[in-house]
Amino acid sequence: MAVSDHVDFPTFMEGVKKRNPGQTEFIQAVQEVAQDIYEFIEDKEEYHEAQILRRIAEPDRVVSFRVCWEDDNHCIRVQRGYRVQNNNAIGPYKGGIRFHPSVNESVLKFLAFEQTFKNSLTGLPMGGGKGGANFNPKGKSDAEVMRFCQSFMTELYRHIGPDTDVPAGDIGVGGREIGYMFGQYKRITNRWEGVLTGKGEEYGGSQMRPEATGYGAVYFLQNMLKHAGQDVEGKTAVISGSGNVATHAAEKIVQLGGKVLTLSDSGGFIYDPEGIDLEKIDWVKHHKTHYRGRISEYVDAFPGATFHEGARPWNVEADLALPCATQNELNEEEAKALVKNGVIAVSEGANMPTTLEGVKVFHDAKIMYGPGKAANAGGVAVSGLEMSQNSERISWNHERLGEMLTDLMEGIHGKCVEYGSHENGYVDYVKGANIAGFKKVADAMLAFGVV
Ligand code: NDP
Repeated sequence: MAVSDHVDFPTFMEGVKKRNPGQTEFIQAVQEVAQDIYEFIEDKEEYHEAQILRRIAEPDRVVSFRVCWEDDNHCIRVQRGYRVQNNNAIGPYKGGIRFHPSVNESVLKFLAFEQTFKNSLTGLPMGGGKGGANFNPKGKSDAEVMRFCQSFMTELYRHIGPDTDVPAGDIGVGGREIGYMFGQYKRITNRWEGVLTGKGEEYGGSQMRPEATGYGAVYFLQNMLKHAGQDVEGKTAVISGSGNVATHAAEKIVQLGGKVLTLSDSGGFIYDPEGIDLEKIDWVKHHKTHYRGRISEYVDAFPGATFHEGARPWNVEADLALPCATQNELNEEEAKALVKNGVIAVSEGANMPTTLEGVKVFHDAKIMYGPGKAANAGGVAVSGLEMSQNSERISWNHERLGEMLTDLMEGIHGKCVEYGSHENGYVDYVKGANIAGFKKVADAMLAFGVV
């Protein structure tokens, strides 16, 4: 029997900071989870004895590698690629690949850590991982993106596999990039296997994967509202981002009778007082995917709207808010503005878009706040279904997948309510998600002994 090492929460966090110098996003993510877990395991000595939380906050491994490629001007370019394999206690590592200039070890460690809890919450057998590179696909030709993806996979392939680690898309990695990477994996290994999710429908992809994260975030919102006796219909929504998650979240809000007022990108946000209807959303999708365009161009196509350069949409008055762009895009001041303007619910399509201070504002105001690890879990849940389809060599149709996604999001909401409800009826969804996600992984780790 190991000697109990029951350190308190501040001492635990001091250790995390000391072991991960300068990794602010990772430290922020651990702090957000650990404060809830500490309360939960207060009287559960077995978790302290086995140092479970400290073990989950130390990735199983971090692989970093050089990615060398040639641009269209025949210049040799060098990028840094990563795969962070955080925890595979309950299934193969699973989590997206991000191509963005802001990618570094801290960002990917935070995402892999969060992914471990999120994947556990889905109820499917998936561990947590994340990867990417500091490559900027913006302004690159198709041929350049292809050469980069091929070079990236030429190293990554030896670290992944259908029972080992199954990456997916994320910021900067959509169907095009997944296709190039899958093609290179197949070429190197001479094996067709479900090693990536988010694939095209023609080669083993799920019919629902592109929509799953955005739709799932709205289903989670719908469940929160239903729990409080309310509905999306007739409500206004502010949404950030204009990529995969944001456009599908907007689509589902409109389908449910809500009115979407904003979308954004890293250049600023557009505000359309008439509402961004399905036709306008299709325009955004097409414009961003086919022309790699900017959201500012929306106002040329739809003159009733205005573009706000360099700003974020959180000062626009609305009932609902869905941050769907990136981490730390909604700070304390912006959270206060949303609350002041009467927001009743926030559902995070993005990962950790709200800062710790912003989250506190939502909790203090007792509004419904669905954190990314619960609200955006629909994407990875449908990825889990894609893995099952590939293993079984079957394919479910759009309708069946839609039903499964709806059920999965209802299940995740239920777990948050189970572990996050206060006596006065208020649901702390962050706490609920953290504890429910932690418990399954921790109990599996206990079963393995000291490994
Ligand atoms: P996309 O690349 O499709 O879109 C990202 C959007 O966010 C773009 O509009 C982009 O604008 C904007 N954005 C990115 N970085 C910044 C920044 N620093 N400041 C302001 N805006 C920014 O990515 P996704 O839609 O797939 O992902 C969005 C979020 O959702 C991420 O947090 C991701 O981790 C999370 N997520 C995604 C899942 C998925 O299935 N795709 C699953 C679960 C979570 P610009 O073009 O100007 O960069």
